[in-house]
Amino acid sequence: MTDLDTITHFINGAKVDTTKGRHADVFNPAMGEPCARVALGTKEDVDAAVAAASAAFPSWAATPPLTRARVLFKYLQLCQQHIDEFAAMLTREHGKTFADAKGEVARGIEMVEFAVGIPQLLKGEFTDQIARGIDAWSMRQPLGVVAGITPFNFPVMVPMWMFPVAIACGNTFVLKPSERDPSPSLLHAKLLKEAGLPDGVFNVIQGDKVTVDALLDHPEVQALSFVGSTPIAEYIYSRGSASGKRVQALGGAKNHMVVMPDADMDMAVDALVGAAYGSAGERCMAISVVVAVGDAGDKLASAMAERTAALKIGDGMAHDSEMGPVVTAAAKQRIEKLIGEGVEQGATLLVDGRGCKVADRENGFFVGGTLFDHVTADMTIYKEEIFGPVLCIVRAPDVATAVNLINANEYGNGVAIFTRDGHTAREFVRQIQVGMVGVNVPLPVPMAFNSFGGWKRSLFGDHHAYGPEGVRFYTRHKAVMQRWPNTASAGAEFSFPQMK
Ligand code: NAD
Repeated sequence: MTDLDTITHFINGAKVDTTKGRHADVFNPAMGEPCARVALGTKEDVDAAVAAASAAFPSWAATPPLTRARVLFKYLQLCQQHIDEFAAMLTREHGKTFADAKGEVARGIEMVEFAVGIPQLLKGEFTDQIARGIDAWSMRQPLGVVAGITPFNFPVMVPMWMFPVAIACGNTFVLKPSERDPSPSLLHAKLLKEAGLPDGVFNVIQGDKVTVDALLDHPEVQALSFVGSTPIAEYIYSRGSASGKRVQALGGAKNHMVVMPDADMDMAVDALVGAAYGSAGERCMAISVVVAVGDAGDKLASAMAERTAALKIGDGMAHDSEMGPVVTAAAKQRIEKLIGEGVEQGATLLVDGRGCKVADRENGFFVGGTLFDHVTADMTIYKEEIFGPVLCIVRAPDVATAVNLINANEYGNGVAIFTRDGHTAREFVRQIQVGMVGVNVPLPVPMAFNSFGGWKRSLFGDHHAYGPEGVRFYTRHKAVMQRWPNTASAGAEFSFPQMK
């Protein structure tokens, strides 16, 4: 067994020997077979990681922001040199195509490009002479040890939504990556160390619920960032905040794209194919419902059926693959079961992706592109997050019906409208109860310089992720007033001082 075959924890600047503990298999989903083993940590492992992060905090918090930024700048350069290595790991353990994996790494690197601006981002406000002889200012200080718990679908990028900003702000970090595709977490750790990050500032604990619960309950963990499914996000938010932590927990989604009859139909169809089936639909911003308004429905249904049936499905490393497998055998089974329920509940199945087989990859977890028409809001395929390559067409007579449908949905992550009419688009943007909105943009994922987050049951907590919201989440505000009197005290004052 090679070193890479056992994916370990990384605590206080070193990999930890995990040969004796619990393990789980990590699969290559295109092959349908294990490609590595991952350690599943214990409460004691979490205690060790938090102790290392705690010990590293005072010195890292006292390090000037510019020095912290310089370490991150070196890490940024190293990430750029290792894009292919990150992407190959991603394709091997997640299944997405190599080109898509490279895109994920690039979006993660963007987060570091934002974080290196931390000396500017941490600047406070100063008011000279707020009262006679008194100055006031505000500043933001790091929280201490903060933790991140991340999902399988973006194992490089989502951790990077968290730790670059957290570390830049002067915190120390414990990452608990998904146990399905944990390898990139150790490459992050290696590159951060190579960039000069002091030991203990960034730690990785591999594992499952045991490690998550230990982080949730640990008294020294000050804040938790979570990204994953809605039931777990809600659990993390309740349990973490009950123990006094600051928590941001981003959950699942059901993203709609409204296509108006006046839209450029070719552009809408191109956008939909990528947004629904890219990464096999395993994106929290994937479009899973298209709301076709008026006579857009018939045109969309026929064009989409043709494009969906023609998708090139295969191993993510094959150059011509447009879509790889889904992440696990259980995910394939769950998605295929939901397709069956869609048929039973009366939706029209235009393209059926069940039973998809790929030559030389007979055991791979492949599901073909699937398209339903005439889906209604009471059907399971409309209500549940499928998280697979399944697109539902819902017909609506007008834009008001589309807006009401979307606003009534329990999720509110992303949404898009395709139209040529500025007034329709403007009113849609103002009325829609969703956190991220695209106008003729199918996946309105904010870049690193703006923040990311959904509404309703797509996000629990007060802060969106990364960007300026990330800086606010990972720091505390402090207000200071100072006086340097050069005269004797005028005596005690018992009433509130008033401005003269
Ligand atoms: P998941 O909720 O199963 O797992 C996320 C993390 O929680 C993992 O690290 C996992 O180990 C841990 N976990 C799982 N079960 C747990 C439990 N019972 N107790 C404590 N911890 C537990 O999510 P996933 O399947 O890895 O990822 C897919 C989900 O993530 C989808 O619902 C997707 O929409 C969502 N997601 C959301 C966003 C967003 O920004 N809103 C981004 C990416 C993914």
